[in-house]
This record gives sequence, structure tokens and C-alpha cells, in this order.
Amino acid sequence: MYLGIDLGTTNSLAAIFRDGKTELIHNAHGHVLTPSAVSLDEGGNWLVGLAARERLSTHPQHTAVAFKRWMGTDKLTRLGSRDFRAEELSAMVLKSLKQDAECFLGAAVTDAVVTVPAYFNDVQRRATKHAAELAGLKVDRLLNEPTAAGLAYGLQERKDHSTFLVFDLGGGTFDVSVLEYFDGVVEVRSSAGDTRLGGEDFASVIESLFLKNCTQISERERERIVASKALWRAAEQAKRDLTDAEYAEIRFAWNDVEFYHRIGRTEFELASEELIKRLRRPIERALADARLSPHELSEIVLVGGATRMPLVRQTVTRLFQRLPLRTINPDETIARGAAIQAALKARDAALDEVVLTDVMPYSMGIIAGEVINGRRFADRFSPIIERNTPVPSSRVQTYTTVADNQLQILFDIRQGESPIGSENMPMGVLEVDVEPKPAGQVNVDLRLSYDANGMLEVEVKDSKQQLIASKVIQPPGANMTEEDIARALTRLQALKQHPRDQQENIYLVGRAKRLYEDRLGEQRQWLQRWIAQFEMALDTQDGKQISQARDEFRAALDGLDKGFVF
Ligand code: AMP
Repeated sequence: MYLGIDLGTTNSLAAIFRDGKTELIHNAHGHVLTPSAVSLDEGGNWLVGLAARERLSTHPQHTAVAFKRWMGTDKLTRLGSRDFRAEELSAMVLKSLKQDAECFLGAAVTDAVVTVPAYFNDVQRRATKHAAELAGLKVDRLLNEPTAAGLAYGLQERKDHSTFLVFDLGGGTFDVSVLEYFDGVVEVRSSAGDTRLGGEDFASVIESLFLKNCTQISERERERIVASKALWRAAEQAKRDLTDAEYAEIRFAWNDVEFYHRIGRTEFELASEELIKRLRRPIERALADARLSPHELSEIVLVGGATRMPLVRQTVTRLFQRLPLRTINPDETIARGAAIQAALKARDAALDEVVLTDVMPYSMGIIAGEVINGRRFADRFSPIIERNTPVPSSRVQTYTTVADNQLQILFDIRQGESPIGSENMPMGVLEVDVEPKPAGQVNVDLRLSYDANGMLEVEVKDSKQQLIASKVIQPPGANMTEEDIARALTRLQALKQHPRDQQENIYLVGRAKRLYEDRLGEQRQWLQRWIAQFEMALDTQDGKQISQARDEFRAALDGLDKGFVF
């Protein structure tokens, strides 16, 4: 069975395609969104999803979130006394989704289509594949997130040539991509983004508004309140409430003091102006790279939880002078698209074959010297394949020697957008011997060929078109080796996983403890009683009693959250 997986920074989802439609997988909590969070408990058992995220405030040293940002880097995250790579943490999330799918479907799941941002470079893509491998999933090819969104909206079913702009505002990142569909081929024409702009920044706006209004709090206290995250959680909730209501409440307790503030949508929207302005640049760049103007787009698709905000929707409508498509839940779109691609791979009869092509997210070229206004500059970037060129692609450029009797030319191949060669990511080097001649009299052709699996082939020919050197380059980066993967697999297998049926229990106790931190007085006593009562039920080890107590406990906490109890 092929699974479609959206491995997100904030949340992850899995979906399948059956009986002619996509279906989302429900996790152990009955939810379709699984927070991309991992936590290790005192007994060395690992938890994933809601139960893990709930421990972020109570056990920050044992909990990891947002590790997608570190994919393909050597960064280690310490949980308790152990260090984990982003691939390993992502593997735990993928493994949990795989298990949920197996439970849901009653069948083994071995293969998956996993989505990645269009701007992910080769190292990040390979790291995602390694994470899947560690989770016991076979991933032949990764799918770009905007392409998945396009598939979910059925662009492959269109008869005509069409272009889609995918506007994806998630928790921490903003991505814009232009897709083109023509004759059974879906192509990412361009992609651009801002890796430091997302829904979380809008919650920070509410946090700042609150602090600005509370003049009685000292500077020192402010810092401590911000560090405790209690205000941030209240601000995040208020932001979501403002999506459906004109007013929201920010309510939290800190150091035995209860804070309360009412905020209006207009006030929030005015304060968010700077963030809204930052949405424009990536849109303009994606359109310019695709050589399109806004009116040439067939559709605009909204993806990502933060596009639920009315201000974001209005901004998009105003910018493009039309209503965007948003019939599918913005946080489910990518997973549904991945399930469609998974079914295409498994050749589900209900779907016509679509060919997907990717683009190279960054320009590729070499470090070269350049003469500008008679002055020689070393360390310039000479792009050979420009960013957003569809792959596979192959381009050639001619270079000449710069010194008299030069015996060698060194090609230092780089990927990136900086005009300074050394600031771009090193891919590999190739040295070729040349005949000694006066400067500028030896010409060689350098050809870069790049395929869909991220393999780069470099070829150098002399002026008579004789091949003088060639090399296949795997970018060095920070990828795991075969041995690293084998070692990580053994390590992960040694970690015990909390049984699925206990995850909800752990989550509820964690949630109650977190609420206890945020509340005071009577509410605290009330929570203490509920926690004790639930722990007593757990001690009975009687499945039926536990299940009943769990339902009551959940209902009680929901009641407190919604303000029904106090
Ligand atoms: P994603 O990464 O697509 O899961 O998006 C997560 C982001 O969407 C977070 O910043 C959430 O706060 C935001 N989000 C989810 N639901 C809402 C809502 N109803 N209103 C405003 N923002 C939301």
C-alpha cells in the first residue's frame, strides 16, 4: 500500500487514495494532524505528536519541534542525554504515521510518497529520503509540496494549458510556486519564499500588542513572561480565535497573577501590516522567474494553516484581483496531493497518468574570475544552469585560461544565488590539464548535467570537442553515509516506543499539567483532582474503566479550555 505523506515543520499528515478519492489517516487521538514533535520520557520511551508537543513546556530539555529546519545539516538536538540528527527525529514522526496508517487500513504499509518544499536542495532531499528509510518506508521519489497542492486541486485533470500559483503560508515558512500544466506534464516553473515568515510571526504580533498595553509590568518581568511561553500560547489561541470572531481574549497566569486582555481583529490586522508587506516580494520574484504577470495565472491556490486568516485571504484576493481556490482544508491539501501521486505510482485505475517534472531550486555554476571595467575580480559566481530550470537539464559554457602558460584549470562547482562564488554551496571540484599557451588562448567547454535524482555530471571538452575530463558528483553536504544509517537504525530500534493506546493517556495528563501551569487558585485544585482521578483509573489496569475515565477527563479539559467550567 502506497501512502502519501506531508512531512511538515509544524504538523505532519498521511493520506491514501482509495475508491476514487483521497482519505486522510487518523492517528491514535483520532486527529488527522500529527504535530511534528518528538519527546523522550524518563523511562527512555519516545513519544510523537500531540503527547510530545504537550511536553514542550513541561519538559523542554526532552522535547524537539521544528526539526525540519535542520534537515541535511549536522546539527544535533539533545533530548535528555542523547543527541539526535534531524533525520532521526523525522524518522520517528514518519514511523508513527506509518503505524497509524497500518492501524487505520489493517494492512502493512511499505512505500510512500513524501513531500518536500520546492526550495529544498539535494542534501535536504537526500536527508528526507534517509529519514523515510530509517522509518522503514521505501521512497522512490520525493514530491514537491506545491506540485502536491496542484494535484490535490486536480490540475492534471484539466484539458487545457494552465498555470497555478501556490501560496503556502505555514507555521514558520512562506513559499510561493508557479506550476504549469500542459499535455500531461506538471512542471514547477518557479519557486520563491521567505524561510522566516509564517503563522507564528502573527502570534508574536499579538504577544507584542499585549506587552505594549501592559505598562505596569517591568522590563525584567516582561522577559521572564516571554520566556515562560504562557503568553505566547495564549496569543496563538487568540490569533486562531480572531479568524472566526471579531474579538478574542488573551488569558493566562504567571507567578500567581492572572492576566487578561481583549483584542479586536482590526487592531491585530493593523499591527500585522509589516508582515503582510513581506508577502509581496516572494510573489513578485516567483512571477518574474516564471515570466508571467498575475492576470495570466489560471488559478491561485491557498495552502498552509495560516492562510485561514481573513487578512491573508483578503491580501491575496486584492493582489491577484480574484478569489483564490480554497475548497480543500489548507492544512490537508499537500497530504491529499501526495496520496494522489502515490496512487499514480501504484497505477490506480481511477487516475490518468501525469508526468511530473521538477525544477532546480538553486542556480548551479562555478567560481570564476571576471573583468569589470578593466579591473579583475576573483571569486565571482558564473551561473551555468539558472535557478528554476526544469530537470533533467544540461547546459554548457566556455571558459578560457587567465594566465600565460597555465597548465591546469580548476572548476569549483557551486550552487546558490550569491554573486560571490565562495558564498554559494560547494558541490565538488574538477581539475583539468591544459596545453601551456598565452592567457586567453585555451578554450574549454564545461557541461553540467543534472538529473531528477540530484545526480550531477560534469564534462569538460577542448576546443576540438574532445572529452578531456568527466566526473559524477554527489554533493558533499551533511548527508548520512550507509554506515551512519545502519548505526542510526540500530539506535532507533533500541528505543522503546510508547504503545499506541497509551499515547492518549500521556497526552491528557500532559495537557492537564500544562493547563495547571497556566491557571490559578480554584482551577488548579480542580485540575489536581482530575489528574488524581485519572491516575487512579490507570492504576486499575482495567481497559474498560480506563477508557471511560479517559473520555470523562478529555471532556473535562475541553470544558475548561472553552471556558464552560469556570
Ligand atoms: P501548517 O504548517 O500548515 O500546519 O500551519 C500552521 C500554522 O497555521 C500555525 O502558525 C497556526 O497558528 C496557523 N493556523 C492554524 N489554524 C489557524 C486558524 N484557524 N487561524 C489562524 N491561523 C491558523
